[in-house]
Amino acid sequence: MNTIYLDNNATTRVAPEVLEEMLPYLVELYGNPSSMHTFGGQLHRKIEDAREKVAALINAEPDEIIFTSCGTESDNTALMSAVESRPRKRHIITSRVEHPAVLNFCQHLGRKGYRVTFLPVDRQGQLDMDTVLKMLDDDITVASIMYANNETGVIFPIERLCGMLKERGILFHTDAVQAAGKIPLDVKKVPVDMLTISGHKLHASKGVGVLFIRKGTRFHPYVIGGHQERGRRAGTENVASIIGLGKAAQLAQQHLHDEFSYLSGLRDRLENGLLSTCPDTRVNGDRHLRLPNTMNISFEYVEGEAILLRLNEYGICASSGSACTSGSLEPSHVLRAMGVPYTAVHGSIRFSLSRYTTEKDINFVLDVMPGIIRELRELSPFGRTAAEHGRDYASE
Ligand code: PLP
Repeated sequence: MNTIYLDNNATTRVAPEVLEEMLPYLVELYGNPSSMHTFGGQLHRKIEDAREKVAALINAEPDEIIFTSCGTESDNTALMSAVESRPRKRHIITSRVEHPAVLNFCQHLGRKGYRVTFLPVDRQGQLDMDTVLKMLDDDITVASIMYANNETGVIFPIERLCGMLKERGILFHTDAVQAAGKIPLDVKKVPVDMLTISGHKLHASKGVGVLFIRKGTRFHPYVIGGHQERGRRAGTENVASIIGLGKAAQLAQQHLHDEFSYLSGLRDRLENGLLSTCPDTRVNGDRHLRLPNTMNISFEYVEGEAILLRLNEYGICASSGSACTSGSLEPSHVLRAMGVPYTAVHGSIRFSLSRYTTEKDINFVLDVMPGIIRELRELSPFGRTAAEHGRDYASE
């Protein structure tokens, strides 16, 4: 059975060009880039080459790029550096819909005595800028607000937000893990102070992340030890993965515009198809300000896990925002923050596409999905339609 992989916001396939670039550094060229001999020295040059390519993807300078082990480490490092370099300030601003890499770290800082404001979002999953304005004060250590949401794909107005925060001299970090490689990012045009990227979300391997730190930003390293990354992140470099990430960044930059229209075309076809063939279905999140590859859709009166299991039988991989997803016992904090009705949260599915998704894949999902939903609703004690419940579903 073929796998139809529509879970690319969880992780992506390593691009063949990336693997090809990485392999020599796992086999013959296994030296340590810090070594004095030529064997190590040539790796150092390759790492700098990768740094240039990653910098180019976001229009940064190469020395503003630090390689880390993952997006989570970059997010934690940004927040920790901010609080350590501004010890007198005690207020942190973030949003309710951040990835746990930011959300849980902010909660951790909250337990250490910081005041944390979790900004609400509206029903479309968008930030309410008036609320943001009201929350700003002189005590803010850092604002950490994501570029695009991993569950709904909703893109936040980062440029506007950045203007508002910079005007007040507030340090700004953005988690761009889902945005990088999918939409244009330009840190000269949108002058964030720190920005996070993760390799495995853009067709590089797992085990490598990036933290962009604008020149002149006070910085405290989080991982302390050797002098790697000019003393900003200790630990022997994950050479092959860094080199692969350089290639992945270059590919993403070269194909950004074509992929945007390819992905949004396929995604919209899938979304419109499901909305028209499966009754009592809704899209979660702003359908316009959204990543091109992501859709989050709720099928009322069905459990997300049940849908995932049935899809899995057809070789289709997706993910759900209902209970027990990824080992969590809680239904999606993102959908709950958006005020999505409980039953719709439980029947929510995220499909996330990549450059390797084909029209045939989408057609197959469109073929099998109406049957799966019908069958599950017939089996479920809750499997009744909105009409039977006698309420206007669309108005919720
Ligand atoms: N931030 C966002 C928005 C993500 O989607 C993820 C991963 O899903 C992360 C951070 C964490 O990245 P990593 O898996 O590289 O630690």
